[in-house]
Amino acid sequence: MKKNGWKQWMMAAALLASTAAVAQEREYVIVVHGGAGAMGSLEQKPEIAQQYYNALDSALMIGDKILAAGGEGHEAVRAVINYFEGNPLFNAGIGATVAADGSFELDAAIMEGKDLSAGAVAGVEHVKHPINAAYAVKTQSPHVMLSGAGAEEFAREQGLEMVDDNLYFATPKTMKWVEQFKAESKKNGTVGCVVLDKQGNLTAGTSTGGMLRKKWGRIGDSPVIGAGTYADNASCAVSCTGHGEYYIRHAVAFNVCARYKYLNESVEQATDYIIHQELNTDAGNGGLIAVDRKGNFAMPYNSQGMFRGFLYKEKGSSEVKKGCAIGQKIVTVGK
Ligand code: ASP
Repeated sequence: MKKNGWKQWMMAAALLASTAAVAQEREYVIVVHGGAGAMGSLEQKPEIAQQYYNALDSALMIGDKILAAGGEGHEAVRAVINYFEGNPLFNAGIGATVAADGSFELDAAIMEGKDLSAGAVAGVEHVKHPINAAYAVKTQSPHVMLSGAGAEEFAREQGLEMVDDNLYFATPKTMKWVEQFKAESKKNGTVGCVVLDKQGNLTAGTSTGGMLRKKWGRIGDSPVIGAGTYADNASCAVSCTGHGEYYIRHAVAFNVCARYKYLNESVEQATDYIIHQELNTDAGNGGLIAVDRKGNFAMPYNSQGMFRGFLYKEKGSSEVKKGCAIGQKIVTVGK
């Protein structure tokens, strides 16, 4: 028994040493998404497109401020997702898509790669910023995922900001859907953020209103650790967006990390395989953002478009590089 303990300690020490030996090549990196789907054609509508570019850039700059000052990845991820949750352009927090009964049921998750600690909430109806509740589950409870009324009771106990009326999350656009329930007006705008911070830690977060007209307390991939959200310092941080049922069945976020870790694929190869081969069915539609432990990142999608943006600083450089996109075109705001 004692001998086995020693062996395990030696193995853990060797693993630690090999992980520590991998140099971080970028000082910090932040990648965001605001959902994937049929938004590619928005590139042809400059005024609308600009609203999204500006919002994505604002999110990146919020993260940049925190990471440049040496803040931790989870602080940047939460601040960025708080921003998205307060912006009605996206399907998260205010502006969330509506369930079949006309209510708003929100999901969110956050995970840190340094210790695999994770927290998630599913189906919350009165929590203003679900990502904060997910973080509280991670840090203040012994659990990983809480749902529905229990999750709300927990959020209240934690003193998080609550909304009295579930219709707080409605916007004129979503109210129109409540009246019409047009399946074709499906909203794609789940938000996500992945970060490599200066300390070399990876963090991933995702927040969503889920799929339009969802029923029976349906929970999507976003709060499911390994499906829509995953982070591991030995590989990557991943946040997904798309048809959640496919992402759950294919354990997408975990599989990206597993391909990177066990097959030694690059983040581009691993994400490309999962999005373009594994999920390449008509309905397995969507995309993801991923950053690896060296700061390489990828933002693939198999849908028409994906709201997305990146920002990074190379080691030894004072310049920050950034860009955002909806379809193919990469745009830089403020330059
Ligand atoms: N993945 C989310 C869900 O299935 C929806 C989305 O990303 O648009 O709940």
